[in-house]
Amino acid sequence: HTDWSLEGTAKRRADYYAASQRKFVPFRDPLVFRRGEGQYLWDNEDNRYIDLLGMNLCISVGHAHPRVVEAATAQARELTHCTTMFYHPTPAHLAEELAATMPKRHEWVVHFTNSGAEAIDLAMTMARTFTGNLDLLALRTAYHGPTAAAQSVTGIAGWRHPGMPGNVAFVPEPNQYRGIFGAGTQPYLDEIARVIATATTGRLAGMLIESVQGYGGIVGMPEGYLSGAAERVRAAGGLYIADEVQSGFGRTGDHFWAFEKDGVVPDIVVMAKGLGNGFPIGAVVARKEVAEPMEDKFMFHTYGANPVSCAAGRAVLAVIDDERLQQNAREVGAALLERLRDLQDRHAVIGDVRGAGLMMAIEMVRNRDSKEPDRETTAAVFEACRAQGLIMSKSGPTQSVLRMVPPLCLSMRDVDAVADGLDAALGDATG
Ligand code: PMP
Repeated sequence: HTDWSLEGTAKRRADYYAASQRKFVPFRDPLVFRRGEGQYLWDNEDNRYIDLLGMNLCISVGHAHPRVVEAATAQARELTHCTTMFYHPTPAHLAEELAATMPKRHEWVVHFTNSGAEAIDLAMTMARTFTGNLDLLALRTAYHGPTAAAQSVTGIAGWRHPGMPGNVAFVPEPNQYRGIFGAGTQPYLDEIARVIATATTGRLAGMLIESVQGYGGIVGMPEGYLSGAAERVRAAGGLYIADEVQSGFGRTGDHFWAFEKDGVVPDIVVMAKGLGNGFPIGAVVARKEVAEPMEDKFMFHTYGANPVSCAAGRAVLAVIDDERLQQNAREVGAALLERLRDLQDRHAVIGDVRGAGLMMAIEMVRNRDSKEPDRETTAAVFEACRAQGLIMSKSGPTQSVLRMVPPLCLSMRDVDAVADGLDAALGDATG
């Protein structure tokens, strides 16, 4: 028996969830979700919502996508787990297919993990092993995950806890709206060189960059930043590690991987979330030579390359292709961004509208000149959106950004519902 009531679930959580997992609930009144289909979610009372969070970006091709469910179910019936100590063709096929998404497909190899943070953790170890250097650079408003190592490269203070390893120096995020050097690329690149010279040993293991910062508030990298950063990091002996956990799989519309925008090729690419459409999986995709030194110093993730998750992953890649979801992200994303810009014209609280494809955000300010973040209005609009049937995400270091990262199957019809609902929510929250 499962008790579906809100009260029952709330009580069991209060009694049995650790505080470290219990408290992170964004809504004033919690929600119990019962089922999902495509870009929609239904709660335990059968109210429908548009999932603009994609259940934390895990749902890339749509909730309960029949091909993903079928692929995973068929695999689970046959063999639910097979570790990498034994041979199974499904993860091997997925590795080949992931390598094929990279520039020069034959130069890449894959290590499967259970989550994004584990993949970040491994990428850090791989870079330190390959280069023989310890120091890493990361961006100030970065989020790379909850393991101790991933926290050590996470720049947002609220996500950092006691006991993280060190050897990490932070550089300012090139936020074109409110970064410390304003708009532009060069001052941020100069700062990377300055930080390498003054805050590190001068010899780097690498630099981690989310191609578009997610929890940081949808901060895209300006033109020339990724290639310029990679150049400076490589000059100090380090590797360029692209975190595509949020921005990958066609989400940004123009490219399958968001780093491609800058014509730069990373040494290591970290992915998770959308790869499994909800089934837990992460992966480090590395240039062959970078991964090679770990041959005699291997790492074993018990559930890494789990065939059920990998079967889901193969179906996800096929669906993105067959249903032209990257193109859908580009077209539907552009239409929604335009509607958000209209809203900015009519609602003074929206200081900035930004994004690419189906990865976008509005940032709330008290005053457009001072750009003082408006955390309270953001929270109010967020709650009002819920009443309009829209699940958004509050993000950014000051929680003043509403992030929209829906399943890639969001439709043009949804764009109207999102824009009209948001318009009403903004009116309710600020009127
Ligand atoms: N990198 C980025 C950019 C993320 O957004 C996240 C998760 N939000 C992670 C890494 C960590 O992934 P996971 O939660 O699967 O460990």
